[in-house]
Amino acid sequence: MIIGIDIGGTKIAVAGFARDGDRLERATEVRTLATPSRAGGPAIVQAVADAVRDVRGGDPVEAVGVGTAGVVGPDGTITSATDAIAGWVGFPLRSALADAVGAPVAVVNDVHAAAVAEAERGAGAGAQAMLMVAVGTGIGGAVVLADGLRRGVTGTAGSIGHMEISLPPNLAERRCPCGGFGHVEAVASGPGLEQTYLEGTGVRLPLREVHAAALRGDARAEGVIRDGARYLGRALASANAALDVEVIVVGGGVAEIGETYLAEVRRAYREAAMAGPAAARVVPAELGVDAALTGAALLGARLVERSD
Ligand SMILES: [Zn+2]
Repeated sequence: MIIGIDIGGTKIAVAGFARDGDRLERATEVRTLATPSRAGGPAIVQAVADAVRDVRGGDPVEAVGVGTAGVVGPDGTITSATDAIAGWVGFPLRSALADAVGAPVAVVNDVHAAAVAEAERGAGAGAQAMLMVAVGTGIGGAVVLADGLRRGVTGTAGSIGHMEISLPPNLAERRCPCGGFGHVEAVASGPGLEQTYLEGTGVRLPLREVHAAALRGDARAEGVIRDGARYLGRALASANAALDVEVIVVGGGVAEIGETYLAEVRRAYREAAMAGPAAARVVPAELGVDAALTGAALLGARLVERSD
C-alpha cells in the first residue's frame, strides 16, 4: 500500500492507495485528525504514524508521500513556514517520518503535491505543461512539466505569490508576509482582499461576507474581488512569459468564489500575456480538498516504481 498524507496547520489527512499496474487508486477512507500544531514536529510525526497504522490495516506500507504546509528543502527538511506549526522550520520531516513508519518517504510542499495530482488526473490532464496557483490564506504555486514536478533548487519553484506587479501607491506600500513589497500575495490572497475592503470601507469582514456583499450588488465589494482577480491574472501572465505552459490551473479557497472570479483572472491574463502564452487555458482546479493527498501518494508511488 502507498500512503498519501496532507499536513496542514490545522488538519492532517491520511489515506491508503493501491497500485494496479500504472494506476494508483485510493483504497481506504480519508482519515482526518487535528494537527497537534502547538506540540510541533515530533508530535506530528507520532500522530501521522498512528494514523498510518490505522489506515493500512494488515497491509505493508511500500512508500509514503507527504504534501505539507511550508517550503520543503531537497532533503525533506522544512526550510520556511508560517508560525502555524510550532518549530516546523528546521524540522527534518522526511527522515523523521521514514524512521517512524519504516518505509521510504517523499515530502513536498502541499501546493506542489496538489499540482502533481491536477496534472495527472485533474484540470491539467493531457497537457504538456501546467502552472498551478492556489489562492487562499497565501498564494502558492507549482510548475509541472512533461517529466514531472519542478521543485526548484530550494523547493520554491512556482511561487507566484511573490511576483512583483505594478500597483497603485496605497497597495504598493503593503508588506507581503514574506517581507517584500508589491507582491501579488499581499493584495490578492484572502487576507489581502479583506485588508483592501477594510481600507476602503473601514469595515473588517471575512472574505466570505465580502463576497456575499458583492453578490448583493455592493460595488466596493465587487471592486475588491475584481481587482484581486486582475492582479492575479497579471502575475500569471508574467510567470507564463517565462514558462510558456499550456494550462494554468487556479485553485484554493478564494478561487471557490467561482466563475465570475475566474473570468476576471482570465481576462486580465489575456490582456497582459505576450502572444503565444496568451492562448494558454486558465481553468479551475478539479480535485478539491483531496488533491494534495492524492498528489503526495503519486509521488510516494514513484519511490517504489524506481526500485521495482
Ligand atoms: Zn512576498
